[in-house]
Amino acid sequence: MIEASAIRRSASAMRTALVGQQTICFSSRKLSGPAPGVGRVIERVERDGREFEFTWDDGLVLHTSLRRSGSWDLYRVGDRWRRKHSDAAALIESEDWVAVCFDAAEVETYRREPIDRHPSRGRVGPDLSDPDVDREIVVEAILHHSDPSTRIREALLDPRVVRGLGNVYAAEALWATRLSPWARVGDIARSDLIMLVNYASRILNEHLNALGDDGFVNLVPFEVYGRNGHVCNRCGDSIEVTNTPPDNRPLYWCPKCQTRLDWRLLDDTPPGGAQPS
Ligand SMILES: [Zn+2]
Repeated sequence: MIEASAIRRSASAMRTALVGQQTICFSSRKLSGPAPGVGRVIERVERDGREFEFTWDDGLVLHTSLRRSGSWDLYRVGDRWRRKHSDAAALIESEDWVAVCFDAAEVETYRREPIDRHPSRGRVGPDLSDPDVDREIVVEAILHHSDPSTRIREALLDPRVVRGLGNVYAAEALWATRLSPWARVGDIARSDLIMLVNYASRILNEHLNALGDDGFVNLVPFEVYGRNGHVCNRCGDSIEVTNTPPDNRPLYWCPKCQTRLDWRLLDDTPPGGAQPS
């Protein structure tokens, strides 16, 4: 049996190595559910006892449940594994690291959806990872959102408004347009939304395409995602991170230069009369 302390150490090592990294390869011989996409960024690694969960930026979650002899091992790319490759139940590879799962009782994926709470439930937004998608539909869905006090970042992560964008590219696009993540959709002009959606679509597809068949990565680095504590390349202030409800996904932003339409700085009545929380 693998000791609890070793399991804890492996979770923390994988968190350090993989969070914020793009997935170059995923494979599993016993996966139930859709496979994590090549190019998608790993956003969280969580452990509860022998259950491990990896969350990608598009909301896909990989859940593995380890048997008593099971483990998640972390290797540098090219290192020799302590067990045979054919024993691996699942494998996640980033540019520098390979995480390998042995002796899993379950390997499954599911999608973490936001709480079903507005009238557009059941509707599915266009997929921005498709370069030919009609981006105007996304702009219209945000402009005519049923709740104008919804924060823009929340709208960008809502699959009923838009799919494929994910937390990473929502953060990057908001930074690029200087919009506060707390801006309410009812306050944002159409021209700003067009800029936001076009930029989001462009960087998302650039990043997804940057991973060639040979796994070669040549990426423009992120401006805010995973850069908390680092200097903002635009204003020199410090990038911050906070966990936001309802699902506590990390929000990265620059509090100095990314303040456009932040309702906390505006002295007006919230759109629709609702008090933002
Ligand atoms: Zn800044």
